Amino acid sequence: MISVSLDFPQSAANFEKAQKVMPGGVNSPVRAYKAVDMTPIAIERGTGSRVYDIDGHEYIDYVLSYGPLILGHAPEPVVEALKAATEKGTSFGAPTELETKMAELVTSIVPSLETVRMVNSGTEATMSALRLARGYTGRSKILKFAGCYHGHADSLLIKAGSGVATLGLPDSPGVPKSTAEHTVTVPYNDLDSVRIAFEKFGDDIAAVIVEPVAGNMGTVPPLPGFLEGLREVTTEFGALLIFDEVMTGFRVSYGGAQSYYRVTPDITTLGKVIGGGLPVGAYGGKRDIVEQVAPSGPIYQAGTLSGNPLAMTAGYTTLRELGKPGVYDDLISKTKRLAEGFREAAEDVGVPCQVNQVGTMLTCFFTDGPVTNYEEASQVDKKRFAAYFRRMIEQGIMIAPSPFETMFMSTAHTDSDIEQTVAAHRKALESLR
Ligand code: PMP
Repeated sequence: MISVSLDFPQSAANFEKAQKVMPGGVNSPVRAYKAVDMTPIAIERGTGSRVYDIDGHEYIDYVLSYGPLILGHAPEPVVEALKAATEKGTSFGAPTELETKMAELVTSIVPSLETVRMVNSGTEATMSALRLARGYTGRSKILKFAGCYHGHADSLLIKAGSGVATLGLPDSPGVPKSTAEHTVTVPYNDLDSVRIAFEKFGDDIAAVIVEPVAGNMGTVPPLPGFLEGLREVTTEFGALLIFDEVMTGFRVSYGGAQSYYRVTPDITTLGKVIGGGLPVGAYGGKRDIVEQVAPSGPIYQAGTLSGNPLAMTAGYTTLRELGKPGVYDDLISKTKRLAEGFREAAEDVGVPCQVNQVGTMLTCFFTDGPVTNYEEASQVDKKRFAAYFRRMIEQGIMIAPSPFETMFMSTAHTDSDIEQTVAAHRKALESLR
């Protein structure tokens, strides 16, 4: 068992300096470890399932850069491909054969994608998808679900999950009222509320945007019939259905949640795994809709670095590796084993926790009841989570420093990693009893 004393002098010194020159000392809020009241751990390097901090501690990593690193850290095929690509030049601002190959591959994997546009982040993908939905339908409003996070575009920062939920900032300052009033929010998994919203605003709703498996309030699967119901109601009212698969794409299954649940959205957004650890997002869908984007249509969206050759190389290589036989069976059976080990330990030790797992995503919620929406997720015992987090870190297990995040599995995690993690979880729970 790896063991880490909670002593991080180098991380603390780095954070001290960082706070002077970066807001909150970080480039993305959850990294500040506020929910767990600790010095943020600065990472030096990663290899396979492991990351190493700048104080020399080693961890089995289930953050995996918040999802992208499904092959683990620095996988050889990606590193080698990147080395070769770098020597050929890092950006051209012109079409390349590689981006065509990438689009061919992505549209062959994700069932509803006929055509796809690459961008540089998940936020850009969802922001562009909303513009497309509004431009295509000529309507203004969008419907989203409380606790779902779709990046930080103005329209989507309403009752959002992820860091917004962690820091308790559900409605961010800086979003004009005139923008916020076009976003209708209802509880996740609640089709009745969706219907009521459509009966009230139906003629003006351009799209429903949903995480088909929520991952930003912790992992929350769709209840049976929920996604199908969204498909029905959007079709009935002439609104588009957007699956935000930034997290679930290539994670819940190779073809994402839409392939797993067999529901076909009009527009899909992608991010994280599609970039293999480099900054990539994408949006696409039915041809007649996506062709409305410039230059084939009038809806404008562009990007200096979009389709960047290094980013496409990392993404393409990753997706090809994932397409090899048996990869998902192995990934998912490991995630299931982790979930079962977590549940068993919780039962034995007598600490109430709900383990939600779908595909390669998993969250352990410290609460009594089932977690099917944000209200239920927010019942978690946050103090207990913070203590649990510290115990896991002490035992060399890296998870996200927030009760509203997801653990991710990679192909690099071994059976022994899973066993060590379950044993650490049991010990952590014992100390919380
Ligand atoms: N949508 C979902 C479902 C996400 O999980 C995230 C990131 N956690 C985003 C959008 C935003 O992606 P990015 O951080 O790359 O902007």
